[in-house]
Amino acid sequence: MRGREGTFQPGRALPIVPPLENDELISSWLNRTAGFYGLPLAALLRAAGDGRTSVLPAAVDFGTQQRALGALATMLGMNVAGLMARTIGATQPNAASTVAGTAGSRMTGPRLHYAACPHCLEQQRIERGASWLCRAWVLASRTVCSIHHAPLVAVVPGSPAHPLWSEFYRPYQAAAVRPGRERQIPAALHSPLADRAIALLHKEMAVVQDVMLTEVAGQDGKSPSSWKGRAAIVRDLAWAFTRADHREPDRLVYEAFSSMVLDNPWHLRRRRRPGPVEFATLPLEERHLLLATATAMSGTSELRERICPPLGHWTSDLASLPQRLCEADRREWCMRRRAWPTAE
Ligand SMILES: [Zn+2]
Repeated sequence: MRGREGTFQPGRALPIVPPLENDELISSWLNRTAGFYGLPLAALLRAAGDGRTSVLPAAVDFGTQQRALGALATMLGMNVAGLMARTIGATQPNAASTVAGTAGSRMTGPRLHYAACPHCLEQQRIERGASWLCRAWVLASRTVCSIHHAPLVAVVPGSPAHPLWSEFYRPYQAAAVRPGRERQIPAALHSPLADRAIALLHKEMAVVQDVMLTEVAGQDGKSPSSWKGRAAIVRDLAWAFTRADHREPDRLVYEAFSSMVLDNPWHLRRRRRPGPVEFATLPLEERHLLLATATAMSGTSELRERICPPLGHWTSDLASLPQRLCEADRREWCMRRRAWPTAE
């Protein structure tokens, strides 16, 4: 059975399907199922398509192609409603703005920025014997693992689960291995003091992101009020950073507030483009930098001193921000700021 052509056929249930894991993306489950039969994910997705073209993994995860989902449900031995209930579209409120990527159009298809925590992948492999991609990792506001406080890394569905293996296989594209983009780490970070500040930053980012995401899910009543205020500030700063810079029309507002400790001027200039942009459509690395800068700016003096010098009160550092916004954005910024906690 293993590796044989014709293994995957619409209308025929597979004899054995690996169990679905906790919070697993459908494309990840399909990838493990295809791997069980010694075939690539593309073979399974081709069988679910019209026979000539593959279904996109993101279309399956978003739930935008019902016909393909019906074919996949049959192969997986479940009903289509059960599979639909596991799509991002069904489980994530306002998926178009809260999921990293874009629902796309009929022409381009949906696009998802897939990500993973390397430590979680390792832990899954040790505890369950396999690694899988979680739905929580494709949320736009999630760039740091809430368990390990480590930045997520970009991955591509169908690649070996562990990012280190993706790196190893990078030269061997013929093996259908497609690694994610590597994270650019500025050299300035490699010092014990900077490492300590970055570890503290990632810890605070994990908590802030937890609170932001519970708010999106309508469960913010469980979060401590101090963190709720901080999460609102980080969310609004990240929004302001994605606006067009009124003073410098070729760039986003973020560039004026970027930290030399977190970002690299050369990479920053290469990414430069006119704004505004939608936060959720940005690649993982850029969303991480925006959230990291906003979390550091609104953080403790220790964090700010290490990451966002020169040091003043953080609200005074923001004094120039409204002048960089267009009239409509400035009104929106003032409205958002009025909702911030008073003891800033
Ligand atoms: Zn983790």
